[in-house]
Amino acid sequence: KLIVVLGVLCLTGIVGILLLCLPAKDLRDSPAFKYGIVMDAGSSHTAMFIYKWPADKENDTGIVSQHSMCDVEGGGISSYAADPPAAGTSLKQCLDQALSDVPKERHGVTPLYLGATAGMRLLNRTDHQTSNSVLRAVTSTLQSYPFEFRGAKILSGADEGVFGWVTANYLLENFIKYGWIGRWIHPIKSTLGAMDLGGASTQITFETQEHIESPENEVTLRLYGRMYKVYTHSFLCYGRDQVLKRLLSKVLKANNYQPTMSNPCWPKDYKKSVLLESIYDSPCTTAEKPISYDPKTTIALTGSGNAAQCYQHVESLFRFTNCTFSRCSFDGVFQPGISGNFIAFSAFFYTVDFIRTVMQIPVASPSDLHAAAEAICNATWQELLQKDPRQAKRLPDYCASATFVDLILIQGYRFNESTFPNIAFQKKAGDTSIGWALGYMLNLTNMIPADEPGLWKGTNY
Ligand code: AMP
Repeated sequence: KLIVVLGVLCLTGIVGILLLCLPAKDLRDSPAFKYGIVMDAGSSHTAMFIYKWPADKENDTGIVSQHSMCDVEGGGISSYAADPPAAGTSLKQCLDQALSDVPKERHGVTPLYLGATAGMRLLNRTDHQTSNSVLRAVTSTLQSYPFEFRGAKILSGADEGVFGWVTANYLLENFIKYGWIGRWIHPIKSTLGAMDLGGASTQITFETQEHIESPENEVTLRLYGRMYKVYTHSFLCYGRDQVLKRLLSKVLKANNYQPTMSNPCWPKDYKKSVLLESIYDSPCTTAEKPISYDPKTTIALTGSGNAAQCYQHVESLFRFTNCTFSRCSFDGVFQPGISGNFIAFSAFFYTVDFIRTVMQIPVASPSDLHAAAEAICNATWQELLQKDPRQAKRLPDYCASATFVDLILIQGYRFNESTFPNIAFQKKAGDTSIGWALGYMLNLTNMIPADEPGLWKGTNY
């Protein structure tokens, strides 16, 4: 009898183990999950994020995670101004991937959004019609897929900032938590500020108790029954790629547009010719544009690797004067005092990650960051290439990016010795990328209720 019982137990165990050994993907992909797709149409490129969550737990916090993602090949949709239909075609490879990443039976009920950011805000400003043609082209491609397409829109700078803040705090479960005693609890810990450095704009967003003197920077959110007063600002033309363009235009102007010149922000002995139209094709460089110039002219630049001179050029991109409020960050923009912990993602993360992993310099204080920018700027091209030959294409610009990150965080936002250590440079929370995309979807699918969920989990009142 004992042998029979043991045999049955053993068999049950083997079946159990076999079930556990089945490919996890099959279990994960079961229709018990719901899915949502967001295309983040940034200025430098478009990324597609597919999110998933258990179908029966829509309003729980931290329950949505990233299922998969795809980087669209080529430039951002705003770079297709000369051929708008190609902007639509460029998305197909990732959308085809979505067809297999989302279980077929869920296709028709999976919301699909496209949100375009500062690259399209700039195009919309300079050429409204072309910007509309690009949006129409991507809309037509997105509509041709079986998903539930819910629109292609240009986000405002405030949307971009606030949705990034929502994403970070949702993932870190700072809004509300389902406690082990079976009750929803509002965590005592405060929310995390968010800093995003994109290709064409940068955003800073944080909760503040201070009076916000400029109404356009104030956003009040009601999430899970609690009010949040949030300060947000998006600086257009302060994204990494636009900063690099603006910086080159400063260097050219300082050298009187000579056919050959040196660039203190490039590593010593690095040489490259730049086409004038590649600098002046953006509304961010209009102020430095020569009155008459041939767009096809090239200027031969050689790096001189001079950290102090580079710092001066980058500093000249900011205006630290003429504040009409009690306090400003820069360019006359009101900002309350920095408070709480922050998460700095996208190019803030890429830049600091390079300093830490490639330059092997710790970044724990403003003086560390400053010393790191100096070390990168004073290195020769050969020295940098030796350190990380795999990123040869990006290497020449780390001097300018690190100097810019130093200037904006310390002189711009006024982080100091005591507040700087409160910044975490991080691009993911668990397996989910931090950016505006998840917050945007949570908002548009009403997955963050304004009111507190019922006292007991799973109870419908
Ligand atoms: P994104 O976060 O994709 O909008 O990119 C923001 C900026 O970071 C752009 O200027 C990109 O060129 C730059 N960037 C993107 N990926 C990397 C990377 N792996 N390392 C350094 N910079 C990057």
